[in-house]
Amino acid sequence: MGDSFRALLVNKDDEGYHSSVENWSMDQLMEGDVLVRVAHSTVNYKDGLAVTGKGPIIRQFPMIPGIDLAGTVEESGNPDISVGSKVILNGFGVGERHHGGFAQYARLKGEWLVPLPGSLTTLQAMAIGTAGYTAMLCVMALEHNGVTPDQGPVLVTGANGGVGSVAVALLSHLGYQVTASTGRVQESDYLKSLGATDILDRMELSEPGRPLGKERWAAAVDSVGSHTLANVLAQTSYGGAVAACGLAQGMDLPASVAPFILRGITLAGIDSVMAPRAKRLVAWERLARELDLSKLEAISKVIGLEDVPEAAESILAGKVRGRLVVDVNA
Ligand code: NDP
Repeated sequence: MGDSFRALLVNKDDEGYHSSVENWSMDQLMEGDVLVRVAHSTVNYKDGLAVTGKGPIIRQFPMIPGIDLAGTVEESGNPDISVGSKVILNGFGVGERHHGGFAQYARLKGEWLVPLPGSLTTLQAMAIGTAGYTAMLCVMALEHNGVTPDQGPVLVTGANGGVGSVAVALLSHLGYQVTASTGRVQESDYLKSLGATDILDRMELSEPGRPLGKERWAAAVDSVGSHTLANVLAQTSYGGAVAACGLAQGMDLPASVAPFILRGITLAGIDSVMAPRAKRLVAWERLARELDLSKLEAISKVIGLEDVPEAAESILAGKVRGRLVVDVNA
């Protein structure tokens, strides 16, 4: 193990945020009982906000962003984690206040790590990433609220995005009829190849709507928020459930209580960052089993560390289809 490694650093000065790939040394990493040699990371929406500074994600500078990583344990002071084992990290403030995945090495707390399921490579795990793991948390929340495939279609908003693409593939594999809402209807063939049965233009959901509308879907996975989530709730069938995890349209929720008090709709909030370990283990074990890996390949593209700043701009502009994997050693 050499002492020097490559990392994407984000700095902030009076002119704004700056990012560049630099050589760093092990003693510049933060505290942790496990040292991981990173193989792959990924660019999530949140990483886009962190790298560009368009959202206050980074809490101290300089920072190595990257909320996800997968790699091999090189040193461990944690009795539950052995040297040579392969691990995944999602969230826990990594890439925000603790140096993250856009580097060849990361020093982390062992309790944050989950074992890489045996059937997945580090590349596949990062093609899933926080976006895919969150999609699984959404599916689990719908199931927890009694949603089953026989009740009718499930709507997925932001369907061409990371959470959306994986949610479409997962739900279709589990036997659900999936309606995919997107602003990129020209990508309908892609969404159908993932398992979507119907495509909806997101314009139908993104403007202010009525408190209640025609009942159109039994449940929904929403990564968009704002008017979209309000309209999704207003058009969910009696007794249905909506898993809300994102804010791609906005942080606001201009809705009424009508869907809750007149149709008994459940709104389930999803947080991946601090989700308990037991839930993470179930989510990853299920992702390894229930996600069609050929579909995963179709939704992902591999880039290098140098490409991350441009990818960060693209994901915020809604131009990334599916998932971007970062090969930190490329
Ligand atoms: P992506 O950028 O990959 O996907 C977001 C998608 O939302 C876009 O591809 C686009 O889909 C749609 N979209 C973008 N802008 C708008 C808009 N103005 N109005 C309506 N739809 C829009 O991001 P991710 O999938 O990585 O993340 C999605 C959201 O989920 C983000 O807000 C992210 O912060 C959040 N998230 C939350 C987590 C949690 O723990 N709660 C974990 C992971 C993500 P299309 O082109 O198909 O319309």
